[in-house]
Amino acid sequence: MKPSAETAIHQILYTLFPEAQVCYHIHSVEANLVSRFVQGDTVILPPLEMLKGLGVREENPRCVIPIFANHLQVSLIAAEIKERFSVTLPQVSALLIRDHGVTVWASSPETAHNYIELIEYIFRYMVASRQVGIGEIGT
Ligand SMILES: [Zn+2]
Repeated sequence: MKPSAETAIHQILYTLFPEAQVCYHIHSVEANLVSRFVQGDTVILPPLEMLKGLGVREENPRCVIPIFANHLQVSLIAAEIKERFSVTLPQVSALLIRDHGVTVWASSPETAHNYIELIEYIFRYMVASRQVGIGEIGT
């Protein structure tokens, strides 16, 4: 099989997180909308029950997901991930690339699949919460 066009990103994640055995990366409408909710390099995730599945076990957690710029050159994205995560570890095993998609990493395919489902649920919720006008969750 042909390696992912984003192999450089996955390699950095495997290097930074030795327990990671799997990276999943998807392009979803919701991930891209959420990546535009803020101009900064993180977006706050609403304190939903689903965060527990991503390893966040606090009452009313203030959890953010990192956002990276979508450079044409993938190696540049990978370098920025390495630089930022070497200083600040992410709270969840997930990152957003603005206007591109979401990447998760985990110790097994089952866990990575579960992370994708959870983070996509949270993104759908964030988009829907704006549609129904229940506030600027995520900003
Ligand atoms: Zn992609």
